[in-house]
Amino acid sequence: MSVATKFELPPLPYDENALEPVISARTISFHYGKHHKAYIDKTNKLIAGTRYADMDLEEIVRESHAHDAEIFHNASQAWNHNFYWHSLGTHSARPTGKLAAAIDEYGGLEKLKKDMAEKGEAQFGSGWVWLVEKAGKLAVQKSTNAEGPFAKGGKCLIGLDVWEHAYYLDYQNERPRYLRAVLDRLIDWEFAADNLSK
Ligand code: MN
Repeated sequence: MSVATKFELPPLPYDENALEPVISARTISFHYGKHHKAYIDKTNKLIAGTRYADMDLEEIVRESHAHDAEIFHNASQAWNHNFYWHSLGTHSARPTGKLAAAIDEYGGLEKLKKDMAEKGEAQFGSGWVWLVEKAGKLAVQKSTNAEGPFAKGGKCLIGLDVWEHAYYLDYQNERPRYLRAVLDRLIDWEFAADNLSK
């Protein structure tokens, strides 16, 4: 494998039309096929011949965070997007087991979804909203541009993209409506539970 193709676009965990009508195949086609791919292509290009060339993506994100902004922006976006695709799905049953107990302790599923929607709406400009585990408790965080809890060693359970490219074709400027629909209908709680148990 040449350095230029070190990282490849990871497969989507579902078909491009699987999230309709909440997220259209057209949005996924651009978001996954163009935006996500561009972050990976750019990462491959930027790391060639650098100390990052032999690292895996996780290492690159954490190592570049405080040192190499351009590499960080692209590598972190490559990681964030893969995490986002897996945060979504259509088989999302309600949370069960240890995750359900943690959500109860947080204040319940409705409060959690409301807080994620509000944090995502409050993120000024491009960014992300995250469900994380911190010191044994669930917490909701937002981040700007390519930033995210993972880069600083945090444990992410769910990550939602609030860049305009994530929703503009389907919802135009209505980010709250996108967030509410995704939170109500597309969260893969099994993925969140797996992340919690890691
Ligand atoms: Mn995106």
